[in-house]
Amino acid sequence: MRKIIPYGKQHITETDIDAVIEVLKGDFLTQGPKIEEFEKAFNNYIGSSYSIAVTNGTAALHLCAMALYVQPGDKVIVPPLSFSATANCIRYCGGDVVFSDIDPETLLLDIKLVRNLLSSSPEGTFKGIIPVDFGGRPIQMDEFRELADEFGLWIIEDACHAPGAFYRDRTGKRQNSGNGAFADLAIFSFHPVKHIACGEGGMITTNNRELYERILKLRTHGITRDPSLFKNSILEAGGDASDSNYPGWYMEMQELGYNYRLTDFQAALGKSQLERANEGILRRLEIASKYNEAFINNKNIEIIFNKAQSEFRNAHHLYIIQLKNRLGLYNFLRENDIFAQIHYFPIHLMPYYKNLGYKLGDMPFAEEYYSKCISLPIYPSLTEEEQLYVIDKINSFVND
Ligand SMILES: *Cc1c(COP(=O)(O)O)cnc(C)c1O
Repeated sequence: MRKIIPYGKQHITETDIDAVIEVLKGDFLTQGPKIEEFEKAFNNYIGSSYSIAVTNGTAALHLCAMALYVQPGDKVIVPPLSFSATANCIRYCGGDVVFSDIDPETLLLDIKLVRNLLSSSPEGTFKGIIPVDFGGRPIQMDEFRELADEFGLWIIEDACHAPGAFYRDRTGKRQNSGNGAFADLAIFSFHPVKHIACGEGGMITTNNRELYERILKLRTHGITRDPSLFKNSILEAGGDASDSNYPGWYMEMQELGYNYRLTDFQAALGKSQLERANEGILRRLEIASKYNEAFINNKNIEIIFNKAQSEFRNAHHLYIIQLKNRLGLYNFLRENDIFAQIHYFPIHLMPYYKNLGYKLGDMPFAEEYYSKCISLPIYPSLTEEEQLYVIDKINSFVND
């Protein structure tokens, strides 16, 4: 049987394996020195001031929502075109998700629609926005910052698809997606189909020291060991009134947190992968431009989303085409061992969100896009031969 070609896949080298083995032979399994090394390296790569490694991207989103004090009843704006976790983090905190449609040209949250929604709602209706760098295409975050400031909102950037993406802000300055220049917090995932694989893993980035410290605490049960932050008196802490210090064992759980720590061997894998992240992006861009060349003049295939753009860099977590007979192509590719995928079934049409009041027709652009989209294989270890095979099969189906 022919090897299955998935839409995305991790790439593990001997160097990665050695990095993990080194940790397994050492003293730390759960959070140890590799966590901070990974976080520092991630800051360097993305250009953020602070990074916090966590269990997975979903935990990262949850911690962000908690750090921003999302409360029951708080309304937060989310695009319908993303993985469900983008919306779910608000529900974990009891908040309400309000979907706002995508721009069909960019497939990103449409800032004009968000502005209309904000302007037509009573002041103070919304608390925040979660834009998504969908597929790897960077959101123009400076524009969202201006809008958010106008209406007093926070921003969590879901940058899971976009480590290594960049755009130019209004002043022409290059800004990396998730770098903390405009969003309050940004999050990444290290699930094997994403750019950097830890097995499971996630990262939060920010330039805000206060949020950083709060999230560090929430990552470990809401516990602090820093005497300068203690809230109990020394007497309550088991000291005597003449003590100037808290006993050595002492720590405080100051609020309700979670165990969202990443293990040290996962951090070692992530750090090792990060060293090749740039190579990976360049390979993804190569694959994308080869697909572009192959399909650009094909009237049956829409590839607007993927056209090369000079003013930004798409990190190409996904390579998406849109076509009428999407189901036919999907099945045909499967028969030929090409496991293309659909990203995504719109979140607002998931039964859970439908039960909260959403229905078909509410987000026409996301729904129209969903009816035609299919994500083709794109990952650094995809060989040229495999890509040519994929292109060949698509052409034979589409031109039939
Ligand atoms: C993968 C992904 C997540 C969730 O990350 P996990 O690490 O799988 O929990 C959230 N948002 C988007 C856009 C994603 O692609």
